Amino acid sequence: MTRDLISDPGVRYVDTHCHVDLYPDPIAVMREAEREGVGIIAVTNTPSVFEPMVRLADGFSKVVVALGIHPELAAEREAELRLLPALIDRTDFLGEIGLDGSSSDAQAAAAQRRVLTEVLRSAAAGRPKVLTVHTRGAVRQSFELIGNEFQGAIILHWFTGTARQIEQAIERRWWFSVNPAMIETAKGRTLLESVPPESVLTETDGPFTRTASGPSRPVNVVAVVEYLATLWRCEHEEARTRILENFRRCTAGDAGSTALHGAWQDTLLRNAPAEISGPLILSAIQELLSSDRELLIRDVNERTITSSLAEHLRPRFPQWSVDCEYNRDGDAIKRAGARSVLPDIIVHRRGAADNLLVIEVKKSNSREPDDLDLEKLRAFRRPPLQYQAALFLKVIVGPDGPGVQTIQWV
Ligand SMILES: [Zn+2]
Repeated sequence: MTRDLISDPGVRYVDTHCHVDLYPDPIAVMREAEREGVGIIAVTNTPSVFEPMVRLADGFSKVVVALGIHPELAAEREAELRLLPALIDRTDFLGEIGLDGSSSDAQAAAAQRRVLTEVLRSAAAGRPKVLTVHTRGAVRQSFELIGNEFQGAIILHWFTGTARQIEQAIERRWWFSVNPAMIETAKGRTLLESVPPESVLTETDGPFTRTASGPSRPVNVVAVVEYLATLWRCEHEEARTRILENFRRCTAGDAGSTALHGAWQDTLLRNAPAEISGPLILSAIQELLSSDRELLIRDVNERTITSSLAEHLRPRFPQWSVDCEYNRDGDAIKRAGARSVLPDIIVHRRGAADNLLVIEVKKSNSREPDDLDLEKLRAFRRPPLQYQAALFLKVIVGPDGPGVQTIQWV
């Protein structure tokens, strides 16, 4: 059960979370999906049903079987953890796993934590895995257990967390799989509006979700894609290929890479000069976009935005001074070319000719041409100032914000 699923040219859609073995007629469900070009991650609920599901899926090229212990069965089936070592290398996919906070049974909660901890530990050992994770009522606890550094792809299945938790998941480059039930609820729809299209996958959680004609089947992801096309204001075909491309990236094995970011994050990380940590700058900008989102939406003046960004940079460059609109170079006024210039943010050593980074920040509604900023930054890179890196950042303000319109290393 490797990642070959995505290389099957017949796969046009993907259901990343389906309990195939729980339908009355699993073969019919897989046949229909095969015919319609729907690839399936067939999740299982306990280790002992993994082998039977593998046998059921034999001969179906678009089905991969995931190994799991459902959190609601964790207490009852904890003993099956002993099967994990023998099975874990049989598949690159794990699910259904996670935590469920809907019961108040403390013993069950403790068992869930033990089981998830053990599954994560096993998953971290071999090839990077793709995990489809249940977090209902226990988002914070699940995030804590998985941590920031998990090597593998995390697909948050049927996510119902808060806006802040969505941001945290995006910062960790995780995925959100959307099912037919989510697009029927106001909460699900609101969630989708705040998730970037680059982080979205599709699922059915069949047979547990329903459509008008009965329990969902993998082919019902087509309707989810149709909904996403409307939401993203694009053609069905574009949304479909977006999801497939996301799935390709998700299963590409280098989770935690920049591939899980959107375009501007990629530009920032890919082109960062060797002297500067791209992820450090990225996390500072993301902090600006999340914790200062109000400032950007309210379109406050540029200096306020600049000084907020400087605040986020400071703890990330403890050996350096981070200054705003600093106009002294030792005692001489900073000159780049013939003009005296005031940089927005500089990271440097005060009083020394040790200049690391200069950033020009601009608002998306500015009428000044970007060329002026870029030229100014080029001048900072040359003698006598010779900054090691220069970054141009144009942030989206107003009702369309917050976001990044342009980012460019100079
Ligand atoms: Zn499920």
